[in-house]
Formats: sequence, structure tokens, C-alpha cells
Amino acid sequence: MKLDDNIVVSTILDNNIFHIFAFDIIKNYNNISNAYILSKNIDENSSVQKWRYFVMNKLYNCKYIDKISTYKTKQFHSGYDCWKFIKYKQDPHITKIYSKIISNKIEGKYILLNIRDDQRIVYENNTGLELETFLQENKDRLNASFLYCNFSKMKPEEQYDICHNARILISAHGAGCTNLIFTPFNTPLIEINFRKHWYCDNVCDKHLKGEISMNEKCDGKLTYRPYFHKADYHNLCYLLGKKYLEIEAIKYDGGFLSKNPISKKKIYIDGENLIKDVNELLEKNK
Ligand SMILES: [Zn+2]
Repeated sequence: MKLDDNIVVSTILDNNIFHIFAFDIIKNYNNISNAYILSKNIDENSSVQKWRYFVMNKLYNCKYIDKISTYKTKQFHSGYDCWKFIKYKQDPHITKIYSKIISNKIEGKYILLNIRDDQRIVYENNTGLELETFLQENKDRLNASFLYCNFSKMKPEEQYDICHNARILISAHGAGCTNLIFTPFNTPLIEINFRKHWYCDNVCDKHLKGEISMNEKCDGKLTYRPYFHKADYHNLCYLLGKKYLEIEAIKYDGGFLSKNPISKKKIYIDGENLIKDVNELLEKNK
């Protein structure tokens, strides 16, 4: 099929929703009505590709295409640095994409926590409770109602709907944080990050085998960046003019599930501080 210039083609093969948004959708976005996703070499039935199809159809009339012959990729934005914490100014191009996705929704209602059950499971440090249980038990101390969900078990439409009415989104670092693009303009992201005890990348053998604690410095190396570099959602929030708050872990437990240093099994945070932070953000957003 021959395509004219008035068409956007999404060609990324990466199976990660953040990469799809940051490295493809942002760069290729053009304010036109038709777009295609190149379906060759992707699994249309995977949850990631369903998410992509859903988001692309918020932005365009989008269909799959299996072959393109004469199309040259045109980029309308150069993307942003995800590996260094930068307090970007609000970016009109990225904000336009976001506005279109959320239909200019301003304000949400409830506090939303995204959880996982396979890794990066978040616990409250003093009680040892899973964070969602802790927040539910303390819901009377929160100045908005509280909901939790697991994006990885939801259809894209369901992820969109629950985020679209969130007044605060809380999540451990991970691709699920990309769903901040479904939250209203005034909804801040509270990201539980891995800044603390960031010692080796790839994870060294001693840490991987559990010979030394996850909370102890090793003689491993930070080969990718010599500092904690997971700035994807921090930077995206600034680019969207959104409030952002990061929470550091107190400790980790349960080991690493792979050589990726974010594949931590359990994260412990201070729940009392979280309640304080959440209520302060709700107060400011009144
Ligand atoms: Zn190590």
C-alpha cells in the first residue's frame, strides 16, 4: 500500500507501553485524522499491543497495516531525555497529545494506587502490611476516597476509566506509570522509586544469589549510568505541567528476580509519610 504524507505510521516493535508512548507516539504525533500501526512482527493480542491500539485510537482513526512500501518516517518531535532528572518546562506538543487522550479532563475524585503481585510489591514498613491494606485500614485519615487496582490485569479501557477519575495516582516505578497520561490535568503522580540502595546495574552475582542483602552496598558496577537514572515519569510529569512526587523506599526484601535492578520482589515504604504527602497534595489541589 502506498501512503501519502497525511498519515502517521507507528512502527516501534518494543513490547513496553512506556517505550511505545515515549519513543513512538510522542515523536510521530501529528494532528491529523488517520494513522496505522505496522502489525508485522508484533502480537496484536498481547496486552501491551492492545494498550497501544487503544491509545492510538484516542489520537487518530487507527488501523493495523501489515506492509508499507514507500513511506518515509517523519518525526514531529525529538522526544525527551529519560535518563537524567530534568525539570523540563511544559512541552506544547506532548501536552497536546495528553489533552487529546484525556479529552481535557481537569480533576479526578479518588486516590488510586496501582499494585503488582509478581514483583515490586509495596509494603508499609512499620506494620508489614501490603500498602493497599494499610491504606484501606487508614482510609478515614485520607482526605479523599481510596481505590487500588492492578493495571497488568485490566483491559486498556478499564485502565483508562479508573485513571480518568483519579485525583492522585500512586505507583511503584514501572511501565504502568505511563498510565499517568490517562489521569486528569490536576492529578499528580506519586512514584515509589529505586533511588535508595542503587548499587549495581546489571545486578551483580552476590546480590542476585542473595549472598549479600539488597540493602547493602556491593562491589558491583553501575554500567549503564553511574547514577540512579529512572527519570521517565519525573520528566514526563514536568513536560505535562503535572505535579510529581517521588518516594524512596526504606528497604527492599525478597531478592532480585532478574539482572534488572528494578526487578525487586518487595519494597517497603513509610506509610505515615505517604498519608501526610497525599493529604498535602489534596489540600493544594482544592
Ligand atoms: Zn550488587
